[in-house]
Amino acid sequence: MTLSSFYPPKRTLMGPGPSDIYPQVLQALSRPTLGHLDPLFIGMMDELKSLLQYVFQTENPFTIAVSAPGSAGMEACFVNLIQPGEKVIVCRNGVFGERMRENVVRCGGEAVVVDDEWGRPVTIEKVEAALIAHPDAIALAFVHAETSTGALSDAEALGKLAKAHGCLSIVDTVTSLGGVPLYVDKWQLDAVYSGSQKCLSCVPGLSPLTFSAQAIAKIEARNTPVRSWFLDQSLVLGYWSGEGKRSYHHTAPVNSLYALHESLVLLKNEGLENAWQRHREAHLMLKEGLETLGISFVVDESARLPQLNAVNIPNGIDDGEVRTRLLEEFNLEIGAGLGDLAGKAWRIGLMGYGARRENVALCLKALEEVLR
Ligand SMILES: *Cc1c(COP(=O)(O)O)cnc(C)c1O
Repeated sequence: MTLSSFYPPKRTLMGPGPSDIYPQVLQALSRPTLGHLDPLFIGMMDELKSLLQYVFQTENPFTIAVSAPGSAGMEACFVNLIQPGEKVIVCRNGVFGERMRENVVRCGGEAVVVDDEWGRPVTIEKVEAALIAHPDAIALAFVHAETSTGALSDAEALGKLAKAHGCLSIVDTVTSLGGVPLYVDKWQLDAVYSGSQKCLSCVPGLSPLTFSAQAIAKIEARNTPVRSWFLDQSLVLGYWSGEGKRSYHHTAPVNSLYALHESLVLLKNEGLENAWQRHREAHLMLKEGLETLGISFVVDESARLPQLNAVNIPNGIDDGEVRTRLLEEFNLEIGAGLGDLAGKAWRIGLMGYGARRENVALCLKALEEVLR
């Protein structure tokens, strides 16, 4: 049998990620590979760092991209900050909050879970009560934009609350970064991670990560080694913070980093505020069209993510059949419900390059036709 190259069809990706990639990003990916200690590559990495600081709105010197997907950024936060026996308050209002709890436990920590119903944002009062009841907690962990439900939580209020109780904050911004306002420094967030393939519209496989001075101090004060060699950020620091004197830790995913650089240049040139506004406008257009089709949202208007629209599947409609037809007849991918929402909701992503009128129009037209 002769094997031939793989040519994927051109789909429109409107699920929970990966999102549609900017054409310029795909081009950047195919540029010549440089050695990862090449001075020109290192120059690009310095630029990449300042671009990451811009999207995170931070001046944290420790701002990098972990060479692995968002889940690795999550794990990097927990393995570096949490030592065995330490207590962490974890907010759980969807799939990713549960993963944070799992991370705490695997680090040998004790997780105190604050539950909220799926589709609702984290309730500030409940978190405050937990912080009061557990003055020995060292960190508060929460998801800013819960991709499994489409709910946005108040990261500013939660960040403040953590500080008021002497806790570090560990924040999942995988779906929020680039799609809704996020101010790491202004909101005093400590360990914040994201993903390349959601609102940054870059290829999957990189996790932007930033640590505040307090997070770094916590890591430096450890009396046990970080249990993961690869994710031990004190080792990676030598590579990312070198400014001309970078040393080898692991082979950087060179071409993927070109792609991330390109997607951040595009975002910087557009302007963060404009990108947030574009997501909002695409969401409003989708909302109007869905209402005409009689489709309602899972999340209350006050906490709805523009970039991830969880909607209720109309009664009597076969979830799998609709998604298959969208894929086969329109080359359109939307997301299935996850966990508690499996079979009950669709998740329509308007992320990054995908947050455009053309995409919204295609999705509405396709849904209308398939539902008829
Ligand atoms: C997608 C996602 C992750 C995991 O990112 P991967 O790149 O798939 O590992 C974590 N948290 C949230 C909120 C996400 O949406």
